[in-house]
Amino acid sequence: MTSNETSAAGPPGAGAVNRPFVSLLTPAGRGAIAVVRVAGPGSVRVADAVFRPHRGVGLARTARGRVRLGRVGRRLGDEVVAVVLDEHPPAVELQCHGGVAAVEMVIDALEQAGAERADPALLVETLTDDAIVAEATLDLCRAPTLATAEILLEQAAGALRRELLGLNHLIDRDPSTAPALLCLDALIGRSAFGLRLLAGWKVVIAGRPNVGKSRLLNALAGFTRAIVDPTPGTTRDVVTLSAALGGWPIELADTAGVRGTSDPIEAEGVARSRREQAEADLILLVLDRSEPLQPMDFELAASAGHSIVVANKSDLPAAWQPGDSRARPKPVVTVSAERGDGIAELCAEIVRSLVPNAPKPGDAVPFRPRHVQALEQARQYLNEGELTSAKTLLESLVRGI
Ligand code: GDP
Repeated sequence: MTSNETSAAGPPGAGAVNRPFVSLLTPAGRGAIAVVRVAGPGSVRVADAVFRPHRGVGLARTARGRVRLGRVGRRLGDEVVAVVLDEHPPAVELQCHGGVAAVEMVIDALEQAGAERADPALLVETLTDDAIVAEATLDLCRAPTLATAEILLEQAAGALRRELLGLNHLIDRDPSTAPALLCLDALIGRSAFGLRLLAGWKVVIAGRPNVGKSRLLNALAGFTRAIVDPTPGTTRDVVTLSAALGGWPIELADTAGVRGTSDPIEAEGVARSRREQAEADLILLVLDRSEPLQPMDFELAASAGHSIVVANKSDLPAAWQPGDSRARPKPVVTVSAERGDGIAELCAEIVRSLVPNAPKPGDAVPFRPRHVQALEQARQYLNEGELTSAKTLLESLVRGI
């Protein structure tokens, strides 16, 4: 045992793992930097065997928390940053170049030194036996924006777990169940938000052909802090773009112009457009403000569900005023997709529409479908007066049974 592995008393859950194992924490594929973690008993010994420091002593004799530079891998190897983490037993984190080959070389070296390749979920098992904390820690690795990462980090730190255990105390203290139901309703109310932390919100741009939908998508792409990931397509296809608006991950989809058509290919594009709209969290209904409104515009305004009307081409003389779109009570934002006027206001309106009440720092947020299902079932139990069933269900939600 090395000087860095003297205290191997594990936390609850660590007992399940009795060997060093290696996991890639960052998403698979190319990236600037990849994070590889070696955990479990013997991880320092394994990492020490493969890490060639640029200078000084090896990893086993390096103080915990101290960052070291060196190389790992065959021949010259990849240049990596390594740190022994102050955990029980200590784990080692290696940051290498993010190319697929570099990552493979580092993991391969660790495997040859005795580590077993494992899913990051196993790694999380060594850190906690709390199901919700483990799920939050795993989802954190895939959080697309800082704001979503902050919320998942709070759940990983126990926000949701504490709330669920508190709920059980509430049921014990007040069998009338009224306070517990209030608390449950607040939690369930946050679940639509929580379920979108990884998947993001879907915003569809709709409208007649030539009103400026494609131009608007480009203007929004230019404005947003892009996780820009355009999927190519023709004007008859759906073109999507992942972006961050107000810190929230949003998938923008530009759909084919909606109109009656006899061309079968175009008709398929229009059908896809309607499907996209049906699945959308929000529709941006684009109208051309420089031309008189047409019956199709009114039809679209009447049929679109949760939507914002975008009165486009504000740089040209106006043929109608916002009130004429008969779209009230839908918000109307006037823009020029061509010049960029009004795009900031539109982005602010999109965020207001999608996330009207973001959770406060530290709020408990259910973020997986199983949380929501269990909370809804617990509410039903409480409504039926089955307090014990509700409590058992909430406890099992925390324990992941
Ligand atoms: P789509 O068919 O709805 O996607 O419309 P496009 O984005 O292809 O735009 C149709 C036409 O309108 C193009 O010639 C654009 O240059 C023009 N256009 C789009 N937005 C604006 C705008 O804000 N101002 C002006 N003057 N022209 C625009």
